[in-house]
Amino acid sequence: MTERVFVFADEEELFSVMKDLDCLYCRNPVAASKHHIKKRHLRFAIYYKDSGIGKFSIPCYCADGGHGRSHWHCPMCTKILQRTKDYKIHVTNHGVEMTDKSTVELQPTSVLLETLQTDTDDRTTGDKSSCQKCGVHFTTTSNLRRHQRLQHCQVHVMPVLCVDAKNAIYVTPKDPHGPRVPVHIRKSFSLQILLCELEECWDFMKAQAQRGNPGRECRHLIRTSHARPYTPPPPLCVRSLEDMARRRLLSGTRTQQCQEIHSRAGLDGVDCVYPVLWGEHELSERCVYFSVYTGFKDKWCQFGRTHVSFDSRSGGWKCLCEFRRSLCVHKCLSMWWLFQERPELLGNALDMSADGVEELEEEEEDGDKLCPEEGDDIC
Ligand SMILES: [Zn+2]
Ligand SMILES: [Zn+2]
Ligand SMILES: [Zn+2]
Ligand SMILES: [Zn+2]
Ligand SMILES: [Zn+2]
Ligand SMILES: [Zn+2]
Repeated sequence: MTERVFVFADEEELFSVMKDLDCLYCRNPVAASKHHIKKRHLRFAIYYKDSGIGKFSIPCYCADGGHGRSHWHCPMCTKILQRTKDYKIHVTNHGVEMTDKSTVELQPTSVLLETLQTDTDDRTTGDKSSCQKCGVHFTTTSNLRRHQRLQHCQVHVMPVLCVDAKNAIYVTPKDPHGPRVPVHIRKSFSLQILLCELEECWDFMKAQAQRGNPGRECRHLIRTSHARPYTPPPPLCVRSLEDMARRRLLSGTRTQQCQEIHSRAGLDGVDCVYPVLWGEHELSERCVYFSVYTGFKDKWCQFGRTHVSFDSRSGGWKCLCEFRRSLCVHKCLSMWWLFQERPELLGNALDMSADGVEELEEEEEDGDKLCPEEGDDIC
């Protein structure tokens, strides 16, 4: 069975979850048409604010409730509640704030009969009800207005990119000002994961839980409601790595290590190097950031990924790993990606002559030319 989600940020998300499937929230098989979803579920949705972000939950009629009776699954714990009133109280205790815009109160007895009825009142109005910014359609203008208020007021403030859909890992800028240094976060209601790699955020959420607000999100996690869906980056090609080795930009050992980590990431079904391109997906900014697969977890790579940054002006590289001052394999992997996709940004590093390699090999021991001393780097 497909993993079910019980909280949504907008209606389109709900429709797309069950595109071409039977409804996951009904006991009897029924096509999850938009019409069905609207009539049986959305109409009774409960709206609330979760750390300031608008969300909603829909009633469920699956076998868990017994005899197809309507019930509610809590998205934050595993509890199932039969009565709408109890569900509202329950999620309020999790720290969300009811905004309750629902016009129709759920009447458990009447909805059972509705499966037999055919539907004729599927009103779709014209362009009036589609969002100018993202093109999503809405049934009513009030839904559209709510969407615009919630999705587009904050959307350009802080981007959130999904770098690993399988493990629900995202990156978002750590701070709203200055260089957009990324942090990794993980969030999945179905996997019951709510994590930020920053210690201060971990402390914040722990304190909130102790105060009776489990599931309260840090300033990074709350942004995931407008996360951009995962898009695969240009994949690394072994041929370009071989080219780098041939041009003696990488030593034999490093080339081999890169290849090993790259294929291990492939086996795990994740991207080895995910370039973090903020803004319009362009490398217009001075600093280029990468989320790089490590293959294990540690204090500096809690989710199995480290951060590498490259200052295209100074040519300086940084990595969060314990070899931060030398040319670690994560920097090499990121360099591989840049060499392949944006060689112009590597600049001088590419002009090295063949006899530069001895120098490079030595420097691997104790710091590197490709990795100058920290100082003028801004990343
Ligand atoms: Zn249904
Ligand atoms: Zn259910
Ligand atoms: Zn709960
Ligand atoms: Zn929109
Ligand atoms: Zn955080
Ligand atoms: Zn590293």
